[in-house]
Amino acid sequence: MPDNARVHTESGRRHFLQNVLSGAVIGVAAQAGFEFAVPEKLSAQTNLTPDAALQELLAGNQRFAANQLTSIEHDLSILKERTVDKQEPFAEVLSCADSRVPVELIFDQTIGHIFVTRVAGNIVTPEIIASLEYGVAVLGVKALVVLGHGGCGAVKAAMKADAVPGQISTLYPALRQAVEKSGGSFDKAIEANAKIQAELLRTSSTVIRDAVKGGKLKVEAGVYDLATGKVTLSQRE
Ligand SMILES: [Zn+2]
Repeated sequence: MPDNARVHTESGRRHFLQNVLSGAVIGVAAQAGFEFAVPEKLSAQTNLTPDAALQELLAGNQRFAANQLTSIEHDLSILKERTVDKQEPFAEVLSCADSRVPVELIFDQTIGHIFVTRVAGNIVTPEIIASLEYGVAVLGVKALVVLGHGGCGAVKAAMKADAVPGQISTLYPALRQAVEKSGGSFDKAIEANAKIQAELLRTSSTVIRDAVKGGKLKVEAGVYDLATGKVTLSQRE
């Protein structure tokens, strides 16, 4: 188990025990527990290997899918205080803007843990690349996940290529390749899109490409299932 996950688990257990044992002084005990719950290892997250960073994300998703969140046990005021001057997220995510994909929640992470960019259809744009490069080059994230999701409206619209109001159709070109690969299957288009965008990041960003080559970063694509709450990473082709 990665150190960070262990801290989560231990703090959760301690917090639980304190609540049970302290009764009337539950608030005080919880506060003390939260002191422990803010892992000193927060500052060591960037020491995670790319594999460990990815595992930490997936372990968080398993907790979320099992309805056993630990991130909510952290004292947000302490976390805020400790991250005023710096951030050291261990991973970053490019996700859709869809309201059903709350990224921190589905990976059971809290303040300062993950660097998140969101845009409808989780597509790569120059601004998204710049943001994710910042995460890699400056913040030192070790894992990057491009996260598609079931029922993605942007992918659906691109498949239909209907006339849409305003600038919504500006999303279509970036999604076209996935639509073409899908053979008309909505689910295939969603997964193909996540994979295509991940590959685009690996190849079109020199910062990301070099970090991957140097073994400092892992870039993966995955799909979030709205019904089960589970993230499944895609196989590389
Ligand atoms: Zn979507």
